[in-house]
Amino acid sequence: MGNLIWFRNDLRVGDNPALHRAARDGATIDAVYIDCPGQWRAHDRAIMQQVFVRRCVESLGSDLALLGIPLHVRNVDTFADLPACLRALAEELEVENVFCNREPGVNEARRDQAVADALTVPLHGFDSHCLIAPGAITTGNGEMYKVFTPFARAWLARLGERGYELLPAPAARGSALARPSFSWPELGQEIDRAAIDEAWPPGEAAALARLNHFCAHELPDYDKNRDFPALAGTSCLSPYLAAGVLSPGQCVASLEQHLGYLPLSRGERGFAWLNELIWREFYRHLMVAHPRLSMHRAFNLETEGLRWRNDPQQFERWCRGHTGYPIVDAAMRCLNRSGWMHNRLRMICASFLTKDLHIDWRWGERYFMSRLIDGDLAANNGGWQWSAGTGADAAPYFRIFNPLTQSEKFDRQGKFIRHWLPELNGVPDSDVHAPRAWLDRHEPQNHYPPPMVDHKQARDYTLRMFRSGAPAPSSRTPTL
Ligand code: FAD
Repeated sequence: MGNLIWFRNDLRVGDNPALHRAARDGATIDAVYIDCPGQWRAHDRAIMQQVFVRRCVESLGSDLALLGIPLHVRNVDTFADLPACLRALAEELEVENVFCNREPGVNEARRDQAVADALTVPLHGFDSHCLIAPGAITTGNGEMYKVFTPFARAWLARLGERGYELLPAPAARGSALARPSFSWPELGQEIDRAAIDEAWPPGEAAALARLNHFCAHELPDYDKNRDFPALAGTSCLSPYLAAGVLSPGQCVASLEQHLGYLPLSRGERGFAWLNELIWREFYRHLMVAHPRLSMHRAFNLETEGLRWRNDPQQFERWCRGHTGYPIVDAAMRCLNRSGWMHNRLRMICASFLTKDLHIDWRWGERYFMSRLIDGDLAANNGGWQWSAGTGADAAPYFRIFNPLTQSEKFDRQGKFIRHWLPELNGVPDSDVHAPRAWLDRHEPQNHYPPPMVDHKQARDYTLRMFRSGAPAPSSRTPTL
């Protein structure tokens, strides 16, 4: 008789409360991971992310084998198949308890309830996807904060007062097992697995190595470099955090270890990076407090009446990176090819879709999810609603990014643009952000498209649409 740990988005042996608890008192442990391709499709999970997660499960299997813990892998179609699957496995292994770490989405909470109801042994849930558990940071009235800054203040105060605990991996039980072998169902799409492995080496050891490298080398200049997509200025840890290959606690511990202190106030070196981790926590706390957010509903319910234009052809051009705004096009082609996009560019592309093309943020949210290797329900939803002006935000709809000035400011020499739009290689720095006039003069045969909308006019429409609640123009936003 022993315990079963059910791995989901917590694919690590370190700082894993469910695994830690399952291993207490030297109990025998079995582990299980259950692939649900039908559910991932329903959740728009990118094929790249599915491949990455599978590779991380394989790595987890090896880590667990070294600890003497066998990993069983099961394949079902959707969450609806899980209760029977887990019940059968628990009975076959004759376990006394099942342990897991909770996830923030509504479907995931319902899934866990259905599994708990089906099992004949208890299912124990733990919080590990945030450093401070959802529900623990509230206003004086016991409610979730509606805007980020006071939430962050309260989060930092609590961290300062109570610190955090980092759980070690469990001790090995007996001798190591043979590395498990894996056979996964087909994903129905050709994908360059070697390229994914190279860009995103799978597993906890690789994630920790990347974390330590970032803290040792890039963290000191993070503040200065983080907004420039042509620089390697950010950690690129998001796929690992999204899959739980890395915990937020491991990130904070590494930050503290490298700095020699915890940067709890603005202005302290290292604070800017911690602040991004707090954004991550904010969106997760919000999603738990407002389950409608995981069902494509707006945070600000008043904005649900907005009538977006939703032109499928314009959407298609945005998806493919054919808008005629080089910074948007380079970013979208980077997403389509690599599965990742820099944060500054996510904001620019999201603002462009919602406030220049007047297309519902939910279309963009789904498209990003279907392409991102770091697709994360809460962060993606939060980022889209922040950009669209429908979210938890102190400065909502009137924040409209100008794609031209953003481009000039954050990719001044067009290095990022040219990397993803080689057709603009010949265009000088001064023209690369708005190349049409130069192309007409020097490369009239160049097929790079003219801008699909006039930003100033589109901006005026957005302001009117939000201020009056009136629909965006049903006729086309003027094309240049
Ligand atoms: P770093 O700058 O090194 O930050 C460290 C970690 O903090 C990140 O890995 C991430 O886990 C977290 N983080 C950083 N910025 C944010 C933020 N603004 N909101 C929430 N968490 C943050 N992030 C995702 O992980 N998955 C998504 O699906 C996702 N979709 C987004 C969609 C839009 C429209 C926007 C504007 C942002 C989105 N983000 C998403 C947030 C952010 O863009 C990425 O987390 C970041 O670019 C990842 O790069 P990094 O790991 O180098 O980040």
